[in-house]
Amino acid sequence: MSPEERITDLPALLEALPSEDRAIAERIFDASATTGRLDPPQEMRPWIEASFGFVDAVREQRIVKVTNRVTLEGTLFNELRASRPLDTGVDLDLERDIEATRGDPFCHPETGTPADAFGRVRGEHSTTASNVAKYDGFHGVVVFDDHNPLRFTPENVSDYVSVGLRWGRKALDADPAARYLFLMWNCLWWAGGSIIHGHAQVTATRNTHYPKVERLRRAALSYAAEHGSNYFADLCRVHEALGLGLPAPDGVRAFASLTPVKEKELVLVGSSLEAEPLRHAVAAALEGYVRELGVTTFNAAFYVPPLASAPEDWSGFPVVVHLVDRGVPSNRTSDMGAMELYAASVVASDPFAVARSLRSGE
Ligand SMILES: [Zn+2]
Repeated sequence: MSPEERITDLPALLEALPSEDRAIAERIFDASATTGRLDPPQEMRPWIEASFGFVDAVREQRIVKVTNRVTLEGTLFNELRASRPLDTGVDLDLERDIEATRGDPFCHPETGTPADAFGRVRGEHSTTASNVAKYDGFHGVVVFDDHNPLRFTPENVSDYVSVGLRWGRKALDADPAARYLFLMWNCLWWAGGSIIHGHAQVTATRNTHYPKVERLRRAALSYAAEHGSNYFADLCRVHEALGLGLPAPDGVRAFASLTPVKEKELVLVGSSLEAEPLRHAVAAALEGYVRELGVTTFNAAFYVPPLASAPEDWSGFPVVVHLVDRGVPSNRTSDMGAMELYAASVVASDPFAVARSLRSGE
């Protein structure tokens, strides 16, 4: 593969895959291209040239729509948006804002935060609190020792996840029906984190997993029934065959997604969070995010099979971790609109460029 694949060439890149990879790719993805056209008045030319380089770049715009047929997730990529360089600037104001909030309640969680009814879980680099206004019956916070959420090491991230898992087991002990654990990390306010101090969140829910996780379980099960093959393994294989795979330790696979929910989405797949490789791979991906891609505000979400046996079939369902860049904190324009909420994601960052940047940082 040449080093300069582009997402807007995806239909041709899929065609060029070896036949077995291509057959798997085609049963998961539908990729189609279209051209949007416009006619700018003379008066707009200076502005268009300043914004996009040259007028022909906007006169005809190639758009690729990628749909995951299995999960019905989908993304629209416009070459005009995707051709912009990845923004990797460092925001000095952000560092100042982070420092200005030192001394917040999370800096002294023992007195500044409530404990869960089952107590706190303490790790090497974090401790849990009970969330004051709960999403669900069990809703905890993994409060990092480090105030600055963007300063993390593999050991710290591994500890946060392992503390979240231990919290999940405590919730399960307290209520054997609360078997469905969800871990998330909303880093900084633009990603939904109302408190700057580094923290992740954990919930444990009853009856069924959250609808998006349950929908994925059902989709993967149907896929296995139809094709006799594991959906997640095939999904990784297609991304790797296209050159979207990222370096990962044994037992973990990682890639820049062909159907990102928003900018620069990465997906990591591993067998368990109990083992260190997946936790370290998440840390490495986040380090790449911050160092190579200049991401400062992101969401991380961990899909974990139930912690105790469940009535429904979870066979073949791994741990799936999603990371997504939520843009620039100083930007007043939301990155999500009606398209994202109700139709399909519109994404500017080219997954091929994201994968190249992360691989070059290794
Ligand atoms: Zn703090």
